[in-house]
Amino acid sequence: EGVIGVLALQGDFREHKEALRRLGVEAKEVRKAKDLEGLKGLIVPGGESTTIGKLAREYGLEEAVRRRVEEGSLALFGTCAGAIWLAKEILGYPEQPRLGVLDVAVERNAFGRQVESFEEDLWVKGLEAPFHAVFIRAPLFVRLGAGVEVLAEYAGRPVFVRQGRVWASSFHPELTGDLRIHRNFLELAQEVAG
Ligand code: GLN
Repeated sequence: EGVIGVLALQGDFREHKEALRRLGVEAKEVRKAKDLEGLKGLIVPGGESTTIGKLAREYGLEEAVRRRVEEGSLALFGTCAGAIWLAKEILGYPEQPRLGVLDVAVERNAFGRQVESFEEDLWVKGLEAPFHAVFIRAPLFVRLGAGVEVLAEYAGRPVFVRQGRVWASSFHPELTGDLRIHRNFLELAQEVAG
């Protein structure tokens, strides 16, 4: 209890909370730096990455989350807009506020601005059966640093990556009722020393 937080500035944080609730975990809504106290893991939801980035900067969360991730005391999982916020580089948006803890470049709306949404069954490393992935105006990871591992691909391009305890997915695992990815993230967060 109380070990996982969901960044609740904008986007679909309620869906992530619900997924975690179904796993028996009451996640904390994180809106200011102080809310991070005692947390071992943080999920950054999908939504609009410019808005999330601006608000996170304004509320001191960019600095605070970065510090916790860099000192190794916080596991982090960004989905869609959340994944964009984590990235070191955002193609075409050099000024967009971001955390920069994940050594990748991302391309926003990488499937075309008009492609609102599509779904696909994907093989995800560590899962024994495909995961039904929902993509909504999704980003792609276009350059991966040496420490970044690919966990899933769509059409030969990475859509789920990890760098140590930092995970990022282009798709929305919180929207399908399949709890396997959230369960694995919970396990990862439990490994963080308290
Ligand atoms: N297109 C959004 C962005 O660039 C992300 C979309 C999403 O999170 N579903 O911020």
